[in-house]
Amino acid sequence: MVNMTVKEILSATGGRLLCGNEDTVLEHISIDSRSMKGNDLFVPIIGEKQDAHRFIGQAFDNGATATLTSEHDAMDLDQPWIRVEDTKKALQAIGSYYRDCLKLPLVGITGSVGKTTTREMVACALSARYSVYKTPGNHNSQVGVPITLSEISAEDEIGVIELGMSEPGELTVIAKIAKIQMAVITNIGVTHIEQLGSQENIYREKMSIQDGLMEGGILFLNGDDPLLKTTKAKEGCKTIYYGTRENCDYRALDVHIEEGFPAFTAAFGQKRVPIRLAVMGSHNVLNAMVSLAVASECGIPMEEAAKCLQDFTGFKNRQQIYHVAGITIIDDTYNASPVSMKAGLEVLGSITKAERRIAVLADMKELGEKSPEYHYEIGEYIAEHPVYELVTLGEMAGEIARAVKEHAPHILVKEFMEPELLVTYLNKELKEGDCVLFKGSNSMNLGPVAEKFYRP
Ligand code: ATP
Ligand code: MG
Repeated sequence: MVNMTVKEILSATGGRLLCGNEDTVLEHISIDSRSMKGNDLFVPIIGEKQDAHRFIGQAFDNGATATLTSEHDAMDLDQPWIRVEDTKKALQAIGSYYRDCLKLPLVGITGSVGKTTTREMVACALSARYSVYKTPGNHNSQVGVPITLSEISAEDEIGVIELGMSEPGELTVIAKIAKIQMAVITNIGVTHIEQLGSQENIYREKMSIQDGLMEGGILFLNGDDPLLKTTKAKEGCKTIYYGTRENCDYRALDVHIEEGFPAFTAAFGQKRVPIRLAVMGSHNVLNAMVSLAVASECGIPMEEAAKCLQDFTGFKNRQQIYHVAGITIIDDTYNASPVSMKAGLEVLGSITKAERRIAVLADMKELGEKSPEYHYEIGEYIAEHPVYELVTLGEMAGEIARAVKEHAPHILVKEFMEPELLVTYLNKELKEGDCVLFKGSNSMNLGPVAEKFYRP
């Protein structure tokens, strides 16, 4: 954050200074009382499980400079305590105020799956000519986005911000704070259908990213997505479609797989740029196309952006590939939904060199009432793909197993409830020439299981 005074925080939040000096300078915002970067404003968030106001003392012990509070009325101390109505809303007001002080353009990325991967790839393409700021980690929520914005520095020339959503109305709030010049919607899936009810509702929610899209902005839409391909940007903004279909402005032609990696020709108008990716899965063709589209609209020639993209090798636990003792491991354990599960299985199927392709799959969470059906469908999908063995972890994943047993009796099936037993089994089972895909929802903790096989 460029230095911000307590006085500015008071003006941004409409807060009241209970004690301390209003000329105190702040450089960072922290919601975790255990980690301070230096000159931090501590923001105690009241969560479902706990109220962080009880950590204010700890935050100061750990070096915080000032704090917000919604629970104290008077204080008599040296350090600034700022009284606000609601700490989360105040944090958002600070994010919004800070954003207004910044001149750089921002690209906001949302969608059901692929936000982080797309964010990384768009940032990679833009880095061909600009100094790029991007959301660190997965901070895409009502709390994460204002903090993310507050870390943009004066040297950054363009920002790529991930905008997530898990409840109705959330995206509108964070998009309005971010005030973006470009918006990307990767796809409309069924992630969070439990909270949102239907795919139509999810579609409407994703479209609300436009509430934060500034006049004259550009909306980039996945032209291969059945719901997005017929959608248009709001008045005063431009629509750009990317994908593999004819209707796309930025189109991937001649998509094929070269030794497991997607290769294609990116086309825009008369321009043709051949490109081969270093990440697997045809979904990355779409992620690459939108990256080229954003870069090109920002004045970077496609050849230059393509050169940067060809070196992109993936982001933590998202289809990262390891080769250990003749075994190929695909760690795709960051998260799972039906769309990304199929994307992962497609990658596994594309490793034609492997002697045995083994899918280790755990439950997909937050899928609501139809969860058993979605799991069963994954089993049907596996039945049509070249998989040697399916190993499941968790109760819902049992539905995947059931479908495979019913539709493809030639595929070996093993089911586990305990990660430890799964590890013991795989230790005995895996051998040279195998290719193993690990995939499941984050909370299933399959990541540490996968890591045991490439980081012993
Ligand atoms: P979250 O909502 O948890 O932040 P996300 O939208 O940021 O998730 P990623 O972390 O990028 O999504 O990817 C999730 C999974 O989806 C990964 O397994 C990744 O390989 C796969 N994936 C990435 N891009 C796409 C895409 N365009 N379509 C389908 N699957 C994708
Ligand atoms: Mg993400």
